[in-house]
Amino acid sequence: MVCPVCRNVEFVSYLKVNDFNVIRCKKCKLGITHPFPSTEQSLQANLETYNSEQRIQLYLTKIDYFKKRYRKYLLNIRNYKPQGKLLDVGCNIGLFLVTAKEEGFEATGIELNKECADYGVKNFELDIVNDYLENRGFQDGTFDIVTMFDVLEHIPDMRNALGEVRRVLKKDGLLVVQLPNLDSIMARITGSNWVWLTTPDHLYHFNPKNLSEFLLSNGFRIKYLRTWEPSEDFSSNFIQAFCPNGIFGRSFKKILRLSKVVLLATHLLRPFWWRKYRGGLIEVYATKV
Ligand SMILES: [Zn+2]
Repeated sequence: MVCPVCRNVEFVSYLKVNDFNVIRCKKCKLGITHPFPSTEQSLQANLETYNSEQRIQLYLTKIDYFKKRYRKYLLNIRNYKPQGKLLDVGCNIGLFLVTAKEEGFEATGIELNKECADYGVKNFELDIVNDYLENRGFQDGTFDIVTMFDVLEHIPDMRNALGEVRRVLKKDGLLVVQLPNLDSIMARITGSNWVWLTTPDHLYHFNPKNLSEFLLSNGFRIKYLRTWEPSEDFSSNFIQAFCPNGIFGRSFKKILRLSKVVLLATHLLRPFWWRKYRGGLIEVYATKV
């Protein structure tokens, strides 16, 4: 096995999750799911983790929350691309596309899950292609912006995917990537119970340094990188990790009190670990060189 980031061939074992291990590259610390799952295994795990109906419901029940979150991404995007043609890879039902259109962008999506893609087309009148990016064959330099939220870590051949992204981007085009941070405080505290450490669904597990290195070596220049996480996600993961049996068999009041304390502590303390790039999510803005 060769590390896709730094081409090193030496790895150390790190964590065991489900029936898989996460091993880390000795040089750049990239986490890799081992044994490396087949495409079928990975897709099956993805369907089991989030079936189409659950996916759609998750977004619909929290529609305001997601649109608010997406407006923040668009605010950052505007610093580099005030307007233009945007492609969201792995767009799900298309809520980011809806928000981007409301903010004046021309938006197209790619989504492998047919039910989710169809939902966005029918209900939000979006332009969503149900296919792999490589198969769609967009012309060279079609887009000003490509976004990949929670996508890169699922792709077996990430270099090939980034090559395709680079091809469809215009000169100086902007790439936005968001994915989980293996070296976050949240990941360190919860260990193999970290909610975003989903093997074999996630094939790769990045930290800010090796993600930057990977983008740089694929023809992108980093403009801005931050780490963060929603307090609710941190506190619910914390409770889930330390009270795995849920509230049954335990004092409900105790759990409730604990969750409030964790939520408040997270909310107050997280700016300190965000500054050290220890937030649970890595969000990076890079331009095509
Ligand atoms: Zn490496």
